[in-house]
Amino acid sequence: MLSLTSIKMKSTTSTVKTSNGAARKKPPFRSLYSKPELEEMFRRFSIQRPEPKGELEHVNPFTLVVAVALSAQATDAGVNKATRALFKVADTPEKMLALGEEKVRDYIKTIGLYRNKAKNVIALSQMLVDRFGGEVPRTREELVLLPGVGRKTANVVMSMAFGIPTMAVDTHIFRIGNRIRLAPGKTPDEVEDKLMRIIPAHYLFHAHHWLILHGRYCCKARKPECERCVIADLCRSPEKTCDIPAPLVELPPQQIGE
Ligand code: SF4
Repeated sequence: MLSLTSIKMKSTTSTVKTSNGAARKKPPFRSLYSKPELEEMFRRFSIQRPEPKGELEHVNPFTLVVAVALSAQATDAGVNKATRALFKVADTPEKMLALGEEKVRDYIKTIGLYRNKAKNVIALSQMLVDRFGGEVPRTREELVLLPGVGRKTANVVMSMAFGIPTMAVDTHIFRIGNRIRLAPGKTPDEVEDKLMRIIPAHYLFHAHHWLILHGRYCCKARKPECERCVIADLCRSPEKTCDIPAPLVELPPQQIGE
């Protein structure tokens, strides 16, 4: 258990590029959680799920890009159901192009927005062949050039396919960042930036999956299941539904909700 007597809020800084390309320091912000509390929080997640895995099925970086692009506004289970058969016949951009948009559409028609997604799958396969020699690129700048691939998809691919620590903020991570005031922000980018700055570096690689799974199975959208939450005694959420108290630390008002 943490000592609550010597808790200091964690303040972080990093650099951003201005419009003329000059580097300047990002303004510091104060997390509601101290460094020892953040360490303890992610230590518990690491014990609870030592090898967290994404739930989207894929067999190589290409099928991962396709699966993540298909998962927008759809469940992982729904995407897996459709892609299992699709990836058996098309696990490379070349095979996907040979299959053609109409057949891709047939495979994925149980997924929301499937017409548009089928178009994107073909267009991104074409771009991979034309510009990247049929290989999935490793950088965010290149990945977001692919049709249907935004920053979140790029982050998932970088992390799961290439082992680069990133924070792809989905609906669960966005909710947790704000609900428990871990990294409050009005946009996913803001939450991503703050999480990347406060999560202890040695936990960063798995943190994305820990937070998604915590949100999916415990800190749920409609009603968090706080009585079985592994960080309930650390959590400072006003939405907490159990009577385990938050740490007894006095917070200056300006640090709350930043
Ligand atoms: S205690 Fe409740 S609100 Fe806090 S993280 Fe756990 S489930 Fe979410």
